[in-house]
Amino acid sequence: MNSAFRIATLFGIPIKIHWTFVLLLLWVVYVSQTGMEAWNWGLLARTGLLVATLFVCVILHELGHALTARRYGIRTRNILLLPIGGLAVLDRLPEKPMQELLVALAGPLVNFALALIFLPILLILQPYGLTELAYALMHPERSNVFLDFQASAIERFLFFMVMINLFVGAFNLLPVFPMDGGRILRALLSIGLTRLQATRIAVFIGQACVVGFIGYTFYTEGTVNWATLLIGVFVFFSAGWEYRAIRDESFLERYKVGDVYRGLFTKLYEGDSLALALECLKRGPERNFLVFDEWQNLKGALSEQGTLNGLTQPDAPRLRVADLMTHVPEVLLPTDELKKAVNLLQKEAHPILPVYENDRLVGVLDAQGVDHFLNVQKYLTSPT
Ligand SMILES: [Zn+2]
Repeated sequence: MNSAFRIATLFGIPIKIHWTFVLLLLWVVYVSQTGMEAWNWGLLARTGLLVATLFVCVILHELGHALTARRYGIRTRNILLLPIGGLAVLDRLPEKPMQELLVALAGPLVNFALALIFLPILLILQPYGLTELAYALMHPERSNVFLDFQASAIERFLFFMVMINLFVGAFNLLPVFPMDGGRILRALLSIGLTRLQATRIAVFIGQACVVGFIGYTFYTEGTVNWATLLIGVFVFFSAGWEYRAIRDESFLERYKVGDVYRGLFTKLYEGDSLALALECLKRGPERNFLVFDEWQNLKGALSEQGTLNGLTQPDAPRLRVADLMTHVPEVLLPTDELKKAVNLLQKEAHPILPVYENDRLVGVLDAQGVDHFLNVQKYLTSPT
């Protein structure tokens, strides 16, 4: 991932910053210097420190997700920091509702725990009574005036930490899929429903909340609130994307390799020229081919990309299929789960896999064939 670079590694998990973070830094400079007559270093440093602290809390929040997921054997590829917040990129999503529930809850719980740690320190240090503090907590919009009046820098910082953690924790608990609250909702719904049904309902509730909220801010403010709109667009796209991924996955679970494999396929031979392979690619519907020797033994596979890469080589006219093919380490059985086959095709990047029944080659399976099959099935089967 070139759009993000690593700033640290915690618990073996790389912490990465997305390049758009630069926008946030520019915003910090803009906000701290607006209305100033001269360059105000002190204010810039303070604003920067607050944003940095906020992102430390966000990292701790994501570590809450990541370390809980680790307990269930799910690896976290990295924690990605975007200007709008953090994202723990898990290798896979927990499928058991209880695990998903705990993984989703862990993030906000970290923020509430942080708030609970800072609150007593603030109570001990600050000169006001509990009533004033409670007032400030309940009226954050007025608390600036209230706390700026006498509070020291440390007290204001502690107050900020309590408030921001309560806010981050509560904000993430909004039932808007794919935020934590939406995931918790889906996990709870999955107890009585299928995962796909639960996702559909959670996505719908989340989108309804977003539309309602955008409508509400428009109604009260009279204009479009761009921040809300941006989050709304993000929610709509990411929820839709995850819903489709889960729908495809639930489709896959219903089928075996035997339902999908292609019985008719073109064989290429080790000695065939690149020109012949290209001809097969251009004229037929197939993109990936199995390669055999002259005694009909399976020797490898030639992908579409492999053929096209061959064309760019200087000795292209002399190239044989054997020079371009890749090894085929896996064979499938018609009784294999389709999900397993798709994992091999996608994650291990095999272009095409042979399907054997009683030691006899009966067909092939490639990503194109799976896509085609799923497309057709989506029209034939009403999703449940
Ligand atoms: Zn979270």
